[in-house]
Order: sequence, then C-alpha cells, then structure tokens
Amino acid sequence: MLTSLPDDTDTKSSGPIADPRDVLEKHFGFREFLDGQSRVVEAILERRDSLVIMPTGGGKSLCYQLPALCLPGATLVVSPLIALMKDQVDALVEKGISATLINSSLTAAEQSERLDQIRDGQFKLVYVAPERFRDQRFCEAMRSIELGLFAVDEAHCLSQWGHDFRPDYLRLGESLNSIGRPQVVALTATATPEVRDDISQVLDLKDPFVITSGFRRPNLSLHITQTQKLKEKFDRLRQVVRTHRTGIVYCATRRKVDEVYEELAAQGVSVIAYHGGMDDAARSEAQEKFIQKDIDVAVATNAFGMGIDRSDVRFVVHFEVPGSVEAYYQEAGRAGRDGEPAHCELLFNYADTRTQEFFIEGNNPSPDLIGSVFQVLSDRADGSGIVSLTVQDIGDLCGAENGMATSTVLGHLVRAGYIQRFDVAGQRMKSTRVLRRPPEGQGLEMDWAGLSEKERRDRSKLESIVALCYSDDCRQGEILDYFGDPDGEVCGNCDQCLAGGSSNSRRRPDDEEILIAQKALSGIARMSRKEAGRWHGRYGKGKIVAMLMGSKSQDVINARLDELTTHGILKDMGSAYLNALLREFEKAGLIKTEKPGDYPLCTLTTRGAKAMRGDRNFSIRWPDLPGSAAAIKAASGMGDLQPDRELLDRLRALRNQMSSAAGVPAYVVFGNRTLEQMAAIKPKTVEESLSLNGVGPTKAEKYLPKFLAEIKAFEEQGSA
Ligand code: ADP
Ligand code: ZN
Repeated sequence: MLTSLPDDTDTKSSGPIADPRDVLEKHFGFREFLDGQSRVVEAILERRDSLVIMPTGGGKSLCYQLPALCLPGATLVVSPLIALMKDQVDALVEKGISATLINSSLTAAEQSERLDQIRDGQFKLVYVAPERFRDQRFCEAMRSIELGLFAVDEAHCLSQWGHDFRPDYLRLGESLNSIGRPQVVALTATATPEVRDDISQVLDLKDPFVITSGFRRPNLSLHITQTQKLKEKFDRLRQVVRTHRTGIVYCATRRKVDEVYEELAAQGVSVIAYHGGMDDAARSEAQEKFIQKDIDVAVATNAFGMGIDRSDVRFVVHFEVPGSVEAYYQEAGRAGRDGEPAHCELLFNYADTRTQEFFIEGNNPSPDLIGSVFQVLSDRADGSGIVSLTVQDIGDLCGAENGMATSTVLGHLVRAGYIQRFDVAGQRMKSTRVLRRPPEGQGLEMDWAGLSEKERRDRSKLESIVALCYSDDCRQGEILDYFGDPDGEVCGNCDQCLAGGSSNSRRRPDDEEILIAQKALSGIARMSRKEAGRWHGRYGKGKIVAMLMGSKSQDVINARLDELTTHGILKDMGSAYLNALLREFEKAGLIKTEKPGDYPLCTLTTRGAKAMRGDRNFSIRWPDLPGSAAAIKAASGMGDLQPDRELLDRLRALRNQMSSAAGVPAYVVFGNRTLEQMAAIKPKTVEESLSLNGVGPTKAEKYLPKFLAEIKAFEEQGSA
C-alpha cells in the first residue's frame, strides 16, 4: 500500500512562488542544478510549454518534479512503464513529497477515493500510464481538478519514428484537449529532428521552450582508432589497460568476450568476463567483484554491460564497432562518472560491421520468414494448438539462416496474438501454442510498414556510427550534433582535436553569420508552405540556392520565385558557399529533406524556424567565405532603394525619441542607413526586417516593434 506524507505547506501556500533553488535543496537535497535543469524549471514556471531532451541520467525527472511543488494544483505525469512509475513514486514519497499513481491495479473504489484525494489537494504529483485516458471517468475527474502541469515522460513513444512507439501516446494530444489543455512539458532522451517535430505536433506545444542539453561529457577523451588486424587491437588494448588500469572492454559477441578475457588474463590483468551466456550466479558474482573494486577490468557484451556500473571507470574500450551512435555513447559514457578524466577508445575495423549487420538481420526477419514460421507452427500444432519444437527446430524447418531471426519472429507472433509461449514444468525449453489463425485465404495481419521502417532505421543507425568512425571532425562535436545538442563546439580533448584535425569546426554564428543564416532560412520558409504550425517544403535545395542567388532561369521564373523578397538576397555569397551552408543546416537539423513524392523537398524544422528568428543556439561548420569580408557587407546591402522621405523623417523622430529615453546614442537604436532601408522597404514583420542592415536579433526584440508600428500607422494613414 502506498502511503504519502502530508504536503509541505510552504511550497503550496499562496503568495510568491517558492524559489526553485530553495525547493531544490529542501526537498531534493541537491545544492546545484545539473546542466539545463534550471532553464527548464524557469521556463515551466513562466508557464511555457517545454520540450526537454536530455540523455538518460541527465536529470529529467527533476525538471517536472520541482515545478510541481511550486505550481498550484497537481502535476499529472504520463509515463509508459508501470514498474518504473512505482519506483518514482516511492522515491518521492521517501523525500516527503506527496505523490501517487493511478493504475489498473487499484479497484474502482480505490480509484475514486484517490481521485477525491487529488481533488482535495493531497497530491502534488500523480503518475498514470497513457492507457488511463481511455477511462472516461478518469478524464472527467481530471477536468474537475486543478492541473498545474502535464508532464509526458519518454515522449518519443508518441513518434512513429521513435524506437518505442506506443499508440496510446499518439492519442495524448486528444486526451490533453479533453481535460482542458493544461500546460505541458514533454521529456525524452531521443533527439532526432523527426521525433522532436512529432512531439511538438502531437502535443500541439504552444511556442515551446525547447532544450537539448547535457550530452556533453568534457571529461571524456574520445578516440577512434583504425585497425586492420586483431593483433593491432590487442596491442592498443594492452596499452590502454596499462595506462588507465580500471575500465570496461565492450565486445560485440560472447565469443569475443571470452577471447579478450583470456588474452588479458594471460597478461596478468585482473579481469572478469560478463555476458548473457553465463548463468545468473556466475554473472552476479563477476559483477559484484567488479563493482566492489576487487577487479580492475570487465569484458562485456554490449547487451549485458548495464550491470557493471561504477563511478571510477577510467577507460572504456570498444573492441568492435557497436550498432549505433546511441549505443556507443551510452557505453562510452560509463567512463568517468566521477567527473575525473577518462579515456574512451573504439577499435574500428570495417569488417566488424558484418557482425552488426547480422544482428540487424536477426532483429528484422523478412515477411517471408514470418509467414513460413507461422506455417510450420500451424502445420505442427496438435488438437489443442500445442507445438513441441525448439526454436532451433523451427528455424531449421523454415530454412532460416539466422537463428536470432526465428526468435524475433516468435516475439512478433506473440505480440500480434497469434501464438503464446509458455514454460512447461520440468523442461528448459518454452513450448508454443497457436491461438488463432488468419481467415482462410488471408495472410497474417501485422504492422508490415512499421517492421520495414524499423529495419530501415536500424540500418541508418549503423551507417551513422560508421560515418562517425570515418569522420575527421571533433568526435564530441559530431556526437552532440547527432543528438541535436547545440553545445557542439570543438572539445579540444578527442583524438581529432588533439591531432589538430578539427580546426575548422562547428561553432555558433557570429553577428554577420546569423544574418546570413536568417536570410537563407527565410528564403526557405518562403519556398515552403506552413500548415498547422509545421513547415512543408515545396522545392529541392538546388532551387533554393538558385532563388537565393537571384537566378532568372526559366524554372525560377515559371515558379515565380523571382517575385519573392528573398530572391537574390545572398547572391554575393556564391552558390558554392550556399550549397555548403545548406548541407551544414541539414546536419544541424535546421532544415530537413523529405521525399513525399518523386523529388526530395527541403523544408524548415522547428529548430530552423527559431534560427530564422535570430536564435543563435546552433553550431555548424561555417563554409569559407568567398572573397573578402566586403563581399558579405555587400550581400546585406540593399542597392539603390529610394527611401520614402516622409516616413524616414518619422522613423528618425521615433529613433531619437527612443534613444534619449533610453539614454543611449541614436545609432545604438538604429543607424541612419538602417532607417533609410526601413523607409524604403517598409517591412511588415520582424522576419522581413531581419534582412536589413544592422537589424540583429537583439535589436529586433528591443526596438523593432515600435518601428513596425510606426510604419504600419504611416501606411494606413497614407491609404486612408
Ligand atoms: P533521467 O530521467 O534523465 O534519466 P533522472 O531524473 O533519473 O534522469 O536523474 C538521474 C540521476 O541524477 C538521479 O539519480 C537523480 O537523483 C540525480 N539528479 C537529478 N538532479 C540532480 C541535481 N540537481 N543534483 C544532483 N543529482 C541530481
Ligand atoms: Zn574534439
């Protein structure tokens, strides 16, 4: 039975909201916020919808738990895993925070009692699974209570492109509306632009505060070493062990674990092996020895490395390439948890990707194999549907080449409700029962599109880690880029940085560059259409560059792209520069290419739209500038536009009035040249004004609105 301590009244009392820092210390016992936490808490307390992307262990829970204590009413937390939910609630209750959960384990009477308690203000946090919203009574109750905040944990579950799609999550958007749309915070560790956009769209986040943070691990020195022969790997490994002593070696297969273990043991290293083929007792004994620091080195398979966590791991070696950047970084990230320097090294040999492909095949059986496994089971089932064949037998009967694939198929069939797998007393093997068959003459009903999409994604993840291995850019920078963390400046600490190979590396835009980026992005926006808050591209990158270059080609004219105000706006940059710029934009997730039909179309992402408005929170590798700096200046010039004299006088008067009110020189507000351009172009929106000389994001925010109002007033008066 869950108990809860009474709510601490001073966090709930009226008056000014409690200082988050005090709450942090008092209720959570932490003295400092972790990376990013305070900004999220601030945004939530400013009542903004938020989207939080932080790695596992980055401290996401606190991002909604702390505001929950400061905001009025209860915070509803949607979380996919019932088991984890209970742990979270218990941990909160232990801290004296009033939290509870509502799930199907409660009787109807208990549920309504708990709802009454919530209504009564007895709980600051209420955890539910997404399925709960199917219950009308629950939704009704939620409508009737004050909800300060709606937190969606593991929010990637609502994306069909995420690795863990759950249909009930997809319906959360409707659920939200049905309970009166409280303020929302969504949290996830999965950061691809598609997933991010899906979350924003499904939850219909309102001008959300988006933060990707905490992926940077400055104390890790990341190395990727190209190797040809096994001997080279062992030589490197020996050196690493000698220099750094305590660490983990990850291998792709159990066989390799044993081999590496033998080799290290023979060298006199104090070492354990750790993999899924060992029985539980042997594994926990090995784990215990390593965690208790009796042993220096653990050799483990990627799949089973989770248990061997200790904070003073000084190195992590990947003996073979893992299957994704996510897996790599999670494993490498087990080094240096204590914040002290640590060494990570991946021993790369392209031939090892074959092992990963084997796993991909095993995890993604073909529709044919799924069909024939089910056929075999149907044919062999006895009167009560029971099939007594081992997985191996089933695979052999189907001619499956990859043993893993057969197990995967069985899993799919279980999830689709065609079969059941169960233990038989006194037998090691599971037995199978056929539960149902598709109607005569019809095939199995499965999410075929989803399965093939999953395979595509698995392959592209492998491609990404291979690309990382071949890249000669800062490792940390590339990884942060992959996760969409804007902190992707050179680390100075990886093999590439140490070798001086990443001098021209990503960084945030300077004053000039942000203007160029804004112009390019607003050109892309004008060549897209916006629907329900999302951009959809209408042209490919080639056309976009042509438009920005001011091309008068028949193509451009037919599409009336020459009529856009952004036509030719970056012509002095040259097309090589612009092509490179768009490639970098895509890498940084500011734009993306979609292929809804025959042609790839380039479109703005949410992140790109922010950059268009002047947000400098992105890092790219800026292409070399063509010619001199004068070229850029010229690029932002507006030619021989004639200012409207009367408007110009009014704008000048406004400027002078504002500058003296603020006690700053006139040019600090806007220079004469900027005013002349304004009086010539008469921009209507902030976005349009950003292409003017001397209008940066700061000025735009601070001064521009009054000028736009003045221009509008002038125009309306003129036409009256
Ligand atoms: P996530 O949900 O992002 O995986 P958690 O919320 O579980 O991460 O937090 C990871 C760990 O960090 C937890 O042990 C948590 O207690 C700890 N933690 C969170 N915030 C802080 C903080 N401000 N200071 C110190 N430790 C923190
Ligand atoms: Zn680096």
